[in-house]
Amino acid sequence: MTEIKKHFAVIGNPIHHSLSPQIHRAFARENGLDIHYEAILSPLDQFKNTVHTLITQKLIGANVTLPFKKEAYQLATTHSSHARIAEAVNTLEFNDNEIIGHNTDGIGLVRDLEQNLNTHLKHKKILLIGAGGAAEGVIYSILEKKPSELTLTNRTIEKSNVIQNKMDVHAKSFDVNLNVIDIAKCPHQYFDVIINATSASLSDDALHMDPKIFHGGSLAYDMMYGKETSYMNQAKSKGSRVSDGLGMLVEQAAEAFFIWHHIKPHTKSVIESLRVL
Ligand code: NDP
Repeated sequence: MTEIKKHFAVIGNPIHHSLSPQIHRAFARENGLDIHYEAILSPLDQFKNTVHTLITQKLIGANVTLPFKKEAYQLATTHSSHARIAEAVNTLEFNDNEIIGHNTDGIGLVRDLEQNLNTHLKHKKILLIGAGGAAEGVIYSILEKKPSELTLTNRTIEKSNVIQNKMDVHAKSFDVNLNVIDIAKCPHQYFDVIINATSASLSDDALHMDPKIFHGGSLAYDMMYGKETSYMNQAKSKGSRVSDGLGMLVEQAAEAFFIWHHIKPHTKSVIESLRVL
């Protein structure tokens, strides 16, 4: 008896740029699975209907990208702990009458840092720039790795304060010093890992911060992928190691693949193949 092809999708708006179909098809090929994975452009006010249509079409699961991660959280009937804490969902699992919401962004970032870039977070001093969905989605996973300090900063500093208040209980439970600084005003400080989780690189805007923050011992990570950003160039000029967010993208997809198929795919060759495109 031939097995029925399992269907998956990534939902976003815009969606044409998404690498998720390529990544999931590559994982499936490597593991001998015959899947159908498509990119779905949802009208901005139709996310819920789009998901329900996919459920009637018997999809097994869907990835969710901008700007629907918060709506996906609202729509899910059950949440993983990472999704509950981030209040955002990037992976949906459709299971009988349940819609299970997961958030694999933080796991993806931490795996890229620790496994691909060999940068372990335990006892390190980390600066996270940005207070949007991407920043909020990764904080708990960073805290779980028990850095000595996690400092938050953002152009609109009040948003960092809101996140600090929300996450402080988790920081305390992992014994991490969670604080907020205004990077535009603060004097030079030392960080081991500096993560750009803003969307400034999309328009190649420079972040207003002292370049002295970068040094030979730091890793400057930009969640943006697909190009060398001004942020990465600035860090490189100060001797810092740099990385874009392509590895995070592939690792978060790998965790979604594991949720749906219970198989951990190899990520290295997929990252390398996308990097040469
Ligand atoms: P949001 O729109 O939710 O947040 C945007 C953030 O960027 C806010 O903190 C905003 O600050 C800040 N910002 C925007 N423009 C500037 C600027 N010119 N200078 C300083 N700060 C600025 O976006 P997301 O959090 O969802 O996404 C952020 C980035 O992360 C995107 O580039 C996205 O592609 C990337 N990403 C990558 C992933 C990966 O797998 N590699 C996964 C998820 C996201 P303010 O609050 O002041 O407006």
